Amino acid sequence: MTQNIYQQLGLKQVINACGKMTILGVSSVAPQVMQATARAASAFVEMDKLVERTGERVSHFTGAEDSYITSCASAGIAIAVAAAITRGDRARVTQMPDSSGMANEVVMLRGHNVDYGAPITSAIRLGGGRVVEIGSSNLAACWQLESAITANTAALLYVKSHHCVQKGMLSMADFVQVAQARRLPLIVDAAAEEDLRSWVASGADMVVYSGAKAFNAPTSGFITGRKRWITACKAQHHGIARAMKIGKENMVGLIFALDNYHQGQSVVAAGALQPVVDAISAIRGFDADIEQDEAGRAIWRVRVRVDARALGLDACAVESRLRGGDIAIYVRRYHLHQGVFSLDPRTLSAGEMALIVARLKEIAEDAAH
Ligand SMILES: *Cc1c(COP(=O)(O)O)cnc(C)c1O
Repeated sequence: MTQNIYQQLGLKQVINACGKMTILGVSSVAPQVMQATARAASAFVEMDKLVERTGERVSHFTGAEDSYITSCASAGIAIAVAAAITRGDRARVTQMPDSSGMANEVVMLRGHNVDYGAPITSAIRLGGGRVVEIGSSNLAACWQLESAITANTAALLYVKSHHCVQKGMLSMADFVQVAQARRLPLIVDAAAEEDLRSWVASGADMVVYSGAKAFNAPTSGFITGRKRWITACKAQHHGIARAMKIGKENMVGLIFALDNYHQGQSVVAAGALQPVVDAISAIRGFDADIEQDEAGRAIWRVRVRVDARALGLDACAVESRLRGGDIAIYVRRYHLHQGVFSLDPRTLSAGEMALIVARLKEIAEDAAH
C-alpha cells in the first residue's frame, strides 16, 4: 500500500474518528480547494484589495456587512478584542496589546471560560483585553451581566461551543439585549460552528469562525459582522494582527472552501451509521447506538459503550489500545469515565470505519485470552 506523506516522514498513519481536532491537523482539505490555494500561492496580488474582495466574498455567505479573514479563530478573538478596545484608532492600534488607559474589560460567562487546547483567556489578553467573568461555573443571571458593566467595559463575549457549560447559562438573546442597551460591541466565538448566518442575524457585532474546523479550509479563520467593527479589525494589521499574518494562498483557499461547503458538503445521515452500530454491538463486550452532537449541531455519531466486566478491559484501556496500534485510531474520549467513547464519521475516509470495527474485534479477542 502506498504511504501517505506523513508516513514518508516516519510518522504513523492516523484514522481520525474524533472530529475536527487541532491535535490531528483539524480537517482534510478537498483537492479543488488545494488547487485554488496553489494557484494563489504562485502569483502576486495587491494585498489590500484582496483583503477587501475576500471580505466581500465571506460576507456573501454570512449575510454580514463586512468580514475579515484571519490566520485562525484564536487570532480572530484577539483581533476582535483589539478592535473593540482601540475602535480602530491608529495610535491605539500601535500601542496594543498594552491597553493601559483604555476601556479594556471583556465581560464573559464563567461557564464560557473554556480551554480549546489553549485558554480562550490567552487570546483575549493577546488583544489587550482584561477578562471579567460573571456568574458561577454552573449558573448565571442577567443582573450579573448588567452589574459587571462599567466605564472600563470594552466588549461582551459570548462563546458557542460544546466545551461550554450547556445549562444554567445566559442565552445569546440576553447578551444581544444587554450589548445593545449599553451600546457595547458583542463578540461571538463560533469557532467550530457550521451555521454561517444565524449569529450575525441574531445581532452579534463580530462573529469569529475557524476556517479549518467546520469548513475544511486550509488553516484560516474569519471575523464577520458590522462594517464599523470589521473596519476596526482590519486596522489591527498595523498592530497585533501582523504577528498573526495569513498568506494570500490561504485567504483564497478559505473562499473556495466556503464555496464548496455552501454547495452541500456531505452530511452523514444518522441512518447511514446503523450498520456500524449493528456490527459493533455484535462484538462481545461492546454495545453501540447513535447520538446527536452535544451542542445540537447536525452531526450524528456512533456511541460505543464498553462493558468492562464482559470484555475484561475498561473504556480507557480500549481507547489507549486503539490509539497505540500500528495505525493510530483516535476516537472521541470525553465520556471515557462513564465507559463510553464515540466515533465521528465526518473525518473518516472510505473503508476506515470498517478498519475500526475490525480493530475492536481484535481487541475483544486479545482480551479473551
Ligand atoms: C477551536 C476553537 C477556537 C480556536 O480556533 P483556532 O482556529 O484553532 O484558533 C476558539 N474557540 C473555540 C470555542 C474553539 O473550539
